Amino acid sequence: LVGPSLLKEELKLSQQDSLRPKSFDDFVGQSELKKVLEISVKASLKRGEALDHLMLYGPPGLGKTTMALVIAEELGVKARVTSAPALERPRDIVGLLINIQPRELIFVDEIHRLNRISQELLYPAMEDRRLDLTVGKGTSSRMRSIEIPPFTLVGATTKPAALSSPMRDRFGITQRLDFYNYLDLENIIKRSAKLINLVISEEASQQLAKRCRGTPRIANRLIRRVRDYAEVYSHSKKIDVEVVNDALDLHRVDQRGLDATDRSYIGLLVNQYQGGPVGLETLAAGLGEDSTTLETVVEPYLMQIGFLHRTSRGRVVTPAAKKHYLLTSPNNIDK
Ligand code: ATP
Repeated sequence: LVGPSLLKEELKLSQQDSLRPKSFDDFVGQSELKKVLEISVKASLKRGEALDHLMLYGPPGLGKTTMALVIAEELGVKARVTSAPALERPRDIVGLLINIQPRELIFVDEIHRLNRISQELLYPAMEDRRLDLTVGKGTSSRMRSIEIPPFTLVGATTKPAALSSPMRDRFGITQRLDFYNYLDLENIIKRSAKLINLVISEEASQQLAKRCRGTPRIANRLIRRVRDYAEVYSHSKKIDVEVVNDALDLHRVDQRGLDATDRSYIGLLVNQYQGGPVGLETLAAGLGEDSTTLETVVEPYLMQIGFLHRTSRGRVVTPAAKKHYLLTSPNNIDK
């Protein structure tokens, strides 16, 4: 429930997500990022040019897609949304670029996963507005260049280090999205509650804000689960803090927003390795989890709340993490 990736049921909804902010004003938090982008958008509108290519990076569910759609809206252009796995063949890239209209925006999620051929097709398109195509086969094949209109590529990634350096260099603007603070999350929760006609107390939204791992996608998901719970168990129309606590306890989301995977992760380090340091692959094998998931999904939040350090010798949990683990899972601790 507190995984930041899209759930299957949400995947269908994500394109027509009614909770997605549509403008810079609607987009809560990330003030520095918003400031930088608002200036660039205003300047490119003034010049009548396409916005520079933009790379957004940060953990999943923080609003990279949302920000790309906001930018398109603010620029008054269409956004084409796709992701690297859908651009595996050269013809996928050609299909995407061949009909592009001037100043339009292309959003490519998980851009670090683009294969080399697709990346090489994108380089001249991004830099010189040129599509280099190979026409014909064998000895009669030749290169043809097609000019394309100026456009903006917005690439999103959870793993900026995995991006090839020629690709990284072609982005004029690079911005990071951070986990949201409690106040911003509270505002996101209040905004979403209003949009789905849910009345929620101040205290209840504060409690929800603490339990959604600094991530708007999780905040929106928890609101829906709390609404379900309230519809069945609560007599009042207003969501109060007891309903939030009961609903989230039922889903085993603890007071800091940690779920079973986080607790197993900390438990393994505490119980079997005296808190660390332990290598990522060892932890992944011990938990039966994929190391990339641990690295990009589980660990960033644990580091953010001061529960984990990544050191050159491996992962180490902090005393705060041990204390929290002891309090929330007293039966699982050795001592
Ligand atoms: P991924 O990398 O997994 O695709 P993402 O970073 O692109 O994730 P989004 O899909 O943009 O995340 O956002 C997830 C959800 O959170 C959206 O449904 C959106 O409604 C909400 N959301 C994101 N950012 C904000 C924000 N700043 N204010 C309000 N709601 C937000």
